[in-house]
Amino acid sequence: MSEFSLIYQHFQHCTRKNPLTQVGIGDDCAISSMPSDCELVSCIDTLVAGRHFPLSTSAYAIGYKSVAVNLSDLAAMGATPYAILLSISLPAKLAHDDWLKPFAQGIADICNRFDVELIGGDTTQSNTLTISVTALGFVPSGQAITRRGAKVGDIICVSGEIGSASFALQQILHAEKSERHNIALQPIALQQIALQPALDLPVPQVELGQKLRGFAHSMIDISDGLGQDLGHILTASQVGAVVDLASIPTHPRLQALPNTDKWQHQLNGGDDYQLCFTMSEQNFVKFNQQFSDKIFAIGKIVTENGLRLTYNNQPIEFSITGYQHF
Ligand code: ADP
Ligand code: MG
Repeated sequence: MSEFSLIYQHFQHCTRKNPLTQVGIGDDCAISSMPSDCELVSCIDTLVAGRHFPLSTSAYAIGYKSVAVNLSDLAAMGATPYAILLSISLPAKLAHDDWLKPFAQGIADICNRFDVELIGGDTTQSNTLTISVTALGFVPSGQAITRRGAKVGDIICVSGEIGSASFALQQILHAEKSERHNIALQPIALQQIALQPALDLPVPQVELGQKLRGFAHSMIDISDGLGQDLGHILTASQVGAVVDLASIPTHPRLQALPNTDKWQHQLNGGDDYQLCFTMSEQNFVKFNQQFSDKIFAIGKIVTENGLRLTYNNQPIEFSITGYQHF
């Protein structure tokens, strides 16, 4: 048995078995039954070390986050997650229990929290640590929430604080750089990063996404910055928006920053994994009565294309760049 066949045994029993799974890890493919009257919803996201997470990220957080970002995509469609497939390209220096155990634990913890089963994967060696997760979920036929359905007059909402992860990332990259330059920095400094859990351990809005079926006209998860991701809804729906920056939920640590820094994190920083969605004013009132801690109105859908920003109702110019992949 190869070293890598041994590695996948770390994952063989780390998640609870779902009754839909007929054959899980151990054969050439997994076999799953489909629930009746449902559509399959699937996505894949790849995380490359040093590009999608800082090199100092813990093995646990890398495992956790590689699943979380995919469950966030399923949440953004209103889907119920079912299973994941996990592809690992691993540098030889990490192919030992001290790294693999916490990595597998991060995967197991988030999967078990959201009742997701690991049904298969692939393991190879590579110089750069790269984790690719495919997530599968189900949605009652015809009820998925896409980016395409925003209507003029809709209220634009987000599910929680925006910009915290980007703020944490900025501090971590700064700390990593200082360490490389050997500027006096204690080893514990990386653990003292404000809002680091928002970056390392984002909570995918899985329950909320499903509750929004029948309420929201359009939805996206915020991975590349609110400005760019809301822009995707506007383009797909062929509408425009007015967003008031003062109404975006903001952590007190971020709130203390100068406005332009704060807006940079919120509009152009990535990795929030909150949901952004639109719904009629009537539905907003209804939904807000039940789930007021998960729905924050930040603006309105309008006819005129593009995104217009205001701050306490005064027009603001701010350049939307978003996370640049290339
Ligand atoms: P094959 O050579 O037929 O592709 P592998 O030896 O790669 O099979 O994998 C054997 C089994 O282990 C398969 O069921 C596969 O899904 C599972 N597996 C391999 N790597 C992983 C992993 N990283 N996570 C979960 N399952 C894995
Ligand atoms: Mg095979």
